[in-house]
Amino acid sequence: MSTVEDVKNQIDIVDVVSENVKLRRTGKNYIGFCPFHANTHTPSFVVFPDSGTWRCFGQCSEGGDVFSYVMKRDGCDFQTALELLAKKAGVELTPYTRDEAPREEKKRLYDLMEEAVNYFHNNLTQHPAGKAALTFLTEKRGLKPETIEKFRLGYALSSWDGLMQHLMGKGYTRQELIDTGVVSEQRDDKGEVVPNGRIYDRFRNRVMIPINDSRGNPVAFGARILDPNDSPKFLNSPQTVLFDKGKTLFALNDARSAIREKDQVVLVEGYMDVIVLHQEGFANTVCPMGTALTDFQAKQLTRQTKHIVLALDGDAAGYHAAVKDIDIIREATASEMPGDSQALLRQENRLNVDIRIVTIPEGLDPDEVVLENPDLWREIIDNAKPIVIHMMETLAKGRDLSDAKTKSEIAAKVMPLIREVPNAIERETYRQQLARFLEIDESLLTYGGSLANAGNGVKRAFPAKPRLKTSAGSMVFDPKDSFYNKENEILRCLYRYYENPGSLAAIDRTLRRFRLEAMSPADFNQTALHEIASVYFRALDQDEELDTKEFVEKHMPESVKEVFLTLKNKKPDNPSETQELDEEILRSLAFMRQEKCEYDKSELQALLEGSDPKSEEMRNFEEMLDRTIERRRRLDILIDTINTIDFKDGK
Ligand SMILES: [Zn+2]
Repeated sequence: MSTVEDVKNQIDIVDVVSENVKLRRTGKNYIGFCPFHANTHTPSFVVFPDSGTWRCFGQCSEGGDVFSYVMKRDGCDFQTALELLAKKAGVELTPYTRDEAPREEKKRLYDLMEEAVNYFHNNLTQHPAGKAALTFLTEKRGLKPETIEKFRLGYALSSWDGLMQHLMGKGYTRQELIDTGVVSEQRDDKGEVVPNGRIYDRFRNRVMIPINDSRGNPVAFGARILDPNDSPKFLNSPQTVLFDKGKTLFALNDARSAIREKDQVVLVEGYMDVIVLHQEGFANTVCPMGTALTDFQAKQLTRQTKHIVLALDGDAAGYHAAVKDIDIIREATASEMPGDSQALLRQENRLNVDIRIVTIPEGLDPDEVVLENPDLWREIIDNAKPIVIHMMETLAKGRDLSDAKTKSEIAAKVMPLIREVPNAIERETYRQQLARFLEIDESLLTYGGSLANAGNGVKRAFPAKPRLKTSAGSMVFDPKDSFYNKENEILRCLYRYYENPGSLAAIDRTLRRFRLEAMSPADFNQTALHEIASVYFRALDQDEELDTKEFVEKHMPESVKEVFLTLKNKKPDNPSETQELDEEILRSLAFMRQEKCEYDKSELQALLEGSDPKSEEMRNFEEMLDRTIERRRRLDILIDTINTIDFKDGK
């Protein structure tokens, strides 16, 4: 992934726009007054979190991604916007020509961690002092010797300097030990680190579980107590240059192929659960680092599958607190504690995934369940319920559902969750299910939130919106990736084109014939790709004597070089036969424009629903909607005929 993509993935465009525009949610998107033109009557500025883009449907009539937003807002260039957002995202911008030194330093830290893993593993398997730990793992926790080998489990001796001496003996420095978090530094009364103070082994008399990054390199440890009097029960490595707990999922590297194969990932709460589940053949299991799932981790997973099952311990305190205090949590939308159903739903909406929840029988851990009866575990996972249903059932457990107060209370807690469901059909189905479940009339359940509002809450705050239609032949799950990939693919094809620049004219001729505008940088909404496209089109127009390829290389801005090089070095999915390349570009372009039309259409319809019928903006929106529908119609005809066009003739 390039740095630009990395930044884009970590930044929520809604957050950035909210810095200076007051946004209101409408279904999946957000609406506000456009900050780039004067208007006070009708909001016409829309932010699409799914595609990571914005659009002004008013006077400006333009849009783009988060980079172009910042460029326009701050009047800066792409490089400056990239720097600003990278800082916000915590992504380090490395100049394209990388310095080799930091990489070499980092490699030593990876080697150090590898050495530490081996040291602990030898303690467990060879050292007499590791015997108790080994017995605990094999007899108490049911681990097979090959599992201990596979996960390279280890044991930290009851010593203050065992690992330290070992690593220093191998030539590692004090600073390197500190940097990898394998030692702790002496602290004073106030808890401040004493400069050049004593250092000592962080982990003592514990079972050591190596935590690997997504490529399988050990970057940290999870350490579990052996002596029940010790605390804390689990101790993790601190954040280091190698280890970011918000970006790490335990066993992801080992689980990857199983996740893809089963098209499902199961998230549990503990490392030991993951290890035992892998041992028993449920290798599509991972766990976060003792914290709630972050956006980054969710994205890591959704790149492999869209089906996520959360297996929560029956006694998970955080979850029960969430069920009890859901009203409070709803207010504190910023916090994403485990089991915060609304936060989960928001995550689900944003990522377009199917999240389901299972509760493990009270008092049992997943590893105990699977060791006792693997079929039971399979059954539990197969019975995972969508969040809304799960909440409904959990809230009703042990309650008297004939009591009016109970009904009202459950409705008040579940309706806000249902309101967050992006798909109108799904949303209505849940509403009906809840009505049946509570044995009340459906009309009493409004999106306003509670039964008490039934009288005045009839006007829906969240109008049902047409679902984004996916373009024929391409299954679109994540529009953000989809637009990016389509724009990317077109550019990759275009780059091949420079050997035969004349044929671009054939594409434009065809577009004109269908009364569609010629291809231009405006087709590229992703700022980095827009910048690259601008250079391409300038190259085709240039009067200089340079050949087009040379021109492109020479004029490519530094800030997008990394993206450009990846693009250039990756062959298009299709072969380079000119005829097919034409067709491929035209087809991708048509599908992409079609999809963008659908986006505009659904949003314009929503804007029309919320506008004053006599206002000038209203007429604008109507005209724009008509134009969009007409444009969409022409694109449909183009796509229908695309196979029959002979590009060589341009007819
Ligand atoms: Zn505007």
